[in-house]
Amino acid sequence: MESCLFCRITKKELPSKVAYEDDQVVAFHDINPQAPVHVLICPRKHIATLNDVTTEDERLLAHMFATARKIAQDLGVAQKGYRTVFNVNAEAGQTVFHLHLHVIGGRRLSWP
Ligand code: AMP
Ligand code: ZN
Repeated sequence: MESCLFCRITKKELPSKVAYEDDQVVAFHDINPQAPVHVLICPRKHIATLNDVTTEDERLLAHMFATARKIAQDLGVAQKGYRTVFNVNAEAGQTVFHLHLHVIGGRRLSWP
């Protein structure tokens, strides 16, 4: 996936402000944050959308949520509250087709 923006970010071919990384994921601050805390958790593996996740990715998904919990704790929003979001495809507003979990917090969030 040579041209995928988030593949290029996870491979460090493009810069980002990394909040956390390990062998499975890179989490970086959103370039256009919607709240004081807005981090994107990306798997190093290219998966286009949540629809493309397979049973072999189940542990990866669990790890992404564990990472969200850790980031919320580290950035000080765990107790007050935060949101995790997967936008899936156009009607939900997905613009980058490399799986990413948004972690958003630091202000009162409206719904939806
Ligand atoms: P989504 O709309 O769910 O696909 O989310 C894509 C997110 O990626 C948006 O919140 C963008 O602001 C963010 N984004 C786009 N380009 C970059 C970038 N180069 N670095 C960090 N975040 C980005
Ligand atoms: Zn990718």
